[in-house]
Amino acid sequence: MVRMDETLLAWLDAHAEELDTNTAEADGLLARLAQANLFTVAVPERDGGDARAPSAAVDVIAALAEHSLSAAFVFWAQRAFMACLLASPNRDLVQRLMPDLLHGRLAGAPGLSNAMKFLGGLDRLRIAGVPTPDGVRLNGAVSWATNLRRQGFVAAIAVGDEHGDNPSVFALPHDAPGVAREPDLDLLALRGTNTAALRLDDVALEASWQIHPQARVFLPGIRPTFVGLQCGLGLGLACASLRAARAALDGRPSVLSGEVDALDADIAAYRRTLASGLDDGSLRERPRDLLALRLRMVALASDAVALELQALGGRALLRTDNGGYARRAREAAFLAVVTPTVAQLKGDLQRC
Ligand SMILES: Cc1cc2nc3c(=O)[nH]c(=O)nc-3n(C[C@H](O)[C@H](O)[C@H](O)COP(=O)(O)OP(=O)(O)OC[C@H]3O[C@@H](n4cnc5c(N)ncnc54)[C@H](O)[C@@H]3O)c2cc1C
Repeated sequence: MVRMDETLLAWLDAHAEELDTNTAEADGLLARLAQANLFTVAVPERDGGDARAPSAAVDVIAALAEHSLSAAFVFWAQRAFMACLLASPNRDLVQRLMPDLLHGRLAGAPGLSNAMKFLGGLDRLRIAGVPTPDGVRLNGAVSWATNLRRQGFVAAIAVGDEHGDNPSVFALPHDAPGVAREPDLDLLALRGTNTAALRLDDVALEASWQIHPQARVFLPGIRPTFVGLQCGLGLGLACASLRAARAALDGRPSVLSGEVDALDADIAAYRRTLASGLDDGSLRERPRDLLALRLRMVALASDAVALELQALGGRALLRTDNGGYARRAREAAFLAVVTPTVAQLKGDLQRC
């Protein structure tokens, strides 16, 4: 298990509501995660990491999500961008960006939902690129991206040709002329995550920013990492809700105790299955099983939040005295709609 920095966890406990409901702590969050040395976890040694197994990064996400899903999702965004970069054949770009990403000086934003949906036949590409002598000229938009920190970010985007096909993947620096970061989206939860849209108006990007020339090859390769890491989000949230449910029951015999124990056991078994399948690489060969685990993660979290509600009773609906239940209910709602959404997962599983 990764040892988590107790100072960071205490800070998250003190600021979890704020991170969920406003933007006051948004710009400092990444630096705090970096100070705790979390971005080196499960990154290859030659790229500045600790070379741990992939499940160690899932453990970090789960540990953060127990305290604040906003923090866990910002960690995921940074780590997902780093995973894109680490899979890139463009080693110059990797070496140029990795040190700042590892230290939280640069924020990485994976703006790839559109491309994932495009590959699934569910959307058209929203960014078009025209080749120039030394790169590409871009127009379009990214509807959603997290970790668009105001001090600076780099976003991973998919760029189609003039026919809206043959996407490639680029890293888009925040200060390229023609890039506009919109104001934060008016979210119901996770407001401290720097989540906004981007507009691209005649952005000239050199070829040195290309992550991969073929998104159709690159994205299916990176998707298991994105999805595997996301499983930690629901794991951590489920553990937090079950702990709150137990605290509410306060050791008294309850009609709910059996369900709490059973869900606890389910979560432990889930964690073991996920970790062994990620670490021995077998889940990469079994995409259906990975998608089923990803879908199950949402159910575990929502079942745990439902048990927390039942254990708290009416107190759960008190605005100022619900012990974090209201935030966790909003966080659980987010898990159902983050790409791949529950609807997309159901579609993918039907096709598999
Ligand atoms: C706080 C927050 C942060 C986010 N951060 C990022 C980010 O960093 N990067 C990023 O790229 N995106 C991000 N997103 C966007 C998000 O991950 C999803 O892309 C988006 O919320 C889901 O798209 P959608 O609304 O079209 O829902 P979908 O679930 O795709 O679409 C809903 C509709 O489509 C239908 N549908 C879905 N799948 C199928 C199918 N297979 N067959 C038939 N019909 C189907 C459903 O029935 C439903 O009617 C973020 C969102 C939130 C809320």
